[in-house]
Amino acid sequence: RGGQAEREVPFAQPGSMTRVYAVASGKGGVGKSSVTTNLAAAMAERGLKVGVVDADIYGFSVPRMLGVEQRPTQVDDMILPPDSHGVKVISIGMFVPGNQPVVWRGPMLHRALQQFLADVFWGDLDVLLLDLPPGTGDIAISVAQLIPTAEILVVTTPQQAAAEVAERAGAIALQTKQRVAGVIENMSWLELPDGTRQEIFGAGGGQTVADSLTQAIGAKVELLGQIPLDTTLREGADAGTPVVVGNPDSPAAVALRGIAKGL
Ligand code: ADP
Repeated sequence: RGGQAEREVPFAQPGSMTRVYAVASGKGGVGKSSVTTNLAAAMAERGLKVGVVDADIYGFSVPRMLGVEQRPTQVDDMILPPDSHGVKVISIGMFVPGNQPVVWRGPMLHRALQQFLADVFWGDLDVLLLDLPPGTGDIAISVAQLIPTAEILVVTTPQQAAAEVAERAGAIALQTKQRVAGVIENMSWLELPDGTRQEIFGAGGGQTVADSLTQAIGAKVELLGQIPLDTTLREGADAGTPVVVGNPDSPAAVALRGIAKGL
């Protein structure tokens, strides 16, 4: 919208009824996007109006995981987001030609995020989920500036090394004065055919992050749930049907629906 004044971000207006969650992790590969897309689909199934902003420029995977095939369309000067499984989706990947890597700098990212929030016709959402890039980067700060009421959801694995970096991602809330909605532990264990649990990545990371954020922030931060390793979760993501929709009774889906219900 060259030359024109920036539109206001509707989610930041007083009286906005949309709950906004920024999903953060310390490092990549812990399942942040899997958690985001499944929570979104689970909430949509319960009848909520849900949107997802894929702001993970380095690993934009949300459209694929949700099976979004259309591109955004434009009506007047607004962008209409495609939807899939009842979830409206905008991804930075929809605006990058081919499979090119994104090499944007901070100010460009801020501008892109501002446009995703203000120039996309979201309608009245109950919930907006933002899939952040891993780490404590520019985007997390931009989210806090654009939507100060956005709450942070921290995703970690049980591994202590992962927990330490996840703490840093959550502790950004101290600086930005955002609320931490809670911690989600993913890849917590693998259930073996005999019913025993194999803790492939160790144990305790989620609780460690919740406890140390509670201390750092001075307000109770809960471990909201633990999601087991589950082949059907990965298969669902690859096929574009979130496991909460395609395989609702699988262990990961049960855990994810429980977390979605509590939010
Ligand atoms: P991130 O967004 O943190 O980089 P992803 O959500 O892309 O992580 O997950 C990384 C990979 O691990 C994906 O292939 C995904 O399907 C898989 N994965 C994530 N969580 C689980 C789980 N609980 N069980 C099995 N596979 C998982």
